[in-house]
Amino acid sequence: MAWKNSRVRSVLTNSCPTCLEGKVFKYNSIFNLKKFDKMHEHCSECGHKFEKENGFFYGAMYASYAVTVAFSVATFVLTYLIYQDTPYWVYIINILVVLIVLAPLSYRAGRLIWINIFNGYNPEAKIKHQQKNQNYE
Ligand SMILES: [Zn+2]
Repeated sequence: MAWKNSRVRSVLTNSCPTCLEGKVFKYNSIFNLKKFDKMHEHCSECGHKFEKENGFFYGAMYASYAVTVAFSVATFVLTYLIYQDTPYWVYIINILVVLIVLAPLSYRAGRLIWINIFNGYNPEAKIKHQQKNQNYE
């Protein structure tokens, strides 16, 4: 699978899993706490509906949890490498600070991973969407 049509690209670039062109989240900044969670309802390019059904994103909590565990392990290892003989509370403080600061990132990554589990790249989706719109005009 090439980078051009990979799910990893969709997660890392905040792009639609179906066409890889439209954006999933409205704003690129994850540290704007009022707007980081705002999503488009449909893809602007292919019309894909991101929330398949009510409560679809409850499952994204599992993906977000996995991302959070990855951040925690990475922070633990970095703390160990930087301060080798340190008390346990330094690890706890470091992990808490990293998880709080990166909470918007784990939220978004969880949703993007969850969307990509259930949808794959479909180059024909954009063409079908454009033809459908032309028929209505
Ligand atoms: Zn799309």
